[in-house]
Amino acid sequence: MSKPLRLSEKWFRRGLWLVALVFASFLIGLGGTIVGDLPKVEATLQLDDFLDKGAAQALRAQLQQAHTAEQDAQTALEQAQLQRSKARSETQAERETFSNWLAARSVTQRAEHDPEVLARTQALDALKQTERRTQQAVQVQEQAALDARQNAAATRQRLSDLESSGYARLNAERRKVELRVFLYRLALTLPLLALAGWLFVKQRRSTYWPFVWGFIWFALFAFFVELVPYLPSYGGYVRYVVGIAVTALVGRYAILALNRYLERQRQAEALPDQERRKELGYDVALARLAKNVCPGCERPVDLKNEQIDFCPHCGIGLFDRCGHCHTRKSAFARFCHACGTVAAGRAGSAD
Ligand SMILES: [Zn+2]
Ligand SMILES: [Zn+2]
Repeated sequence: MSKPLRLSEKWFRRGLWLVALVFASFLIGLGGTIVGDLPKVEATLQLDDFLDKGAAQALRAQLQQAHTAEQDAQTALEQAQLQRSKARSETQAERETFSNWLAARSVTQRAEHDPEVLARTQALDALKQTERRTQQAVQVQEQAALDARQNAAATRQRLSDLESSGYARLNAERRKVELRVFLYRLALTLPLLALAGWLFVKQRRSTYWPFVWGFIWFALFAFFVELVPYLPSYGGYVRYVVGIAVTALVGRYAILALNRYLERQRQAEALPDQERRKELGYDVALARLAKNVCPGCERPVDLKNEQIDFCPHCGIGLFDRCGHCHTRKSAFARFCHACGTVAAGRAGSAD
């Protein structure tokens, strides 16, 4: 693909690069969707698939029961505690009024045989009794709650022992599935990369080059970017090894291409002037002249110096004179810029 000089052609080329970019982006989207859907090929693994189902269910039911019992015991305990504090405050209140009443009585009266003192002492005793009963009820509920808690803890321990062996098996199986899914993806993206390599070597200058380049970008993106989130721990090796191989191949290709170019250039410089002129594209020659390099050998020449008509490096003619009006003109121009006569040796030639 030589650099075009015509304005419209330039813009057409830019448009075609845009086509390549858009084509690549749609391919990347499609590829991403397909790659993303791949795990659905494998069934999702559940912990229960790796447990003794009967034992696990029994333990879970037991755990549930223990939790319920614990909650019930807790509720009952709260009720019992409330009753106890009520009984306590009643006793407290009675004791206070009793001692106030005793203090208010005449000290001369004998307390021991006074029937009212006896009755009030008995009532206080009864309240004390009630308080003790509520205390016992609280202790019973505390015991029940503790039993339920310990029972739940023991059951939970047994269940977690059962589950941890299940998790070990589940993780082993997951690793296997991960590997399989990675291999599916590799089997999908590696051939794409190989195809992209082949297209790069054979088809990158073809008429349909925007699609070729779009596909190459897509394949590179699919392999080096889209595969990454699905890589298992050793997946980096695959990526880097393939990356090294691709870089080595591209590098080797570039080195060979450079040598081929130098060889071609060496042979071209050995050809006679007219022959070389014919081999050069018109646009290529003009583009090189615009950069102040010789169109034949691409080495720098001083084109403004009117003394220089030939390249001092390769000897190709840079300026000649019009066959009609003898004006000095570029040897690569198709027409004389002074009189418009068709340049000698240029008639009928096209790029
Ligand atoms: Zn030259
Ligand atoms: Zn002329």
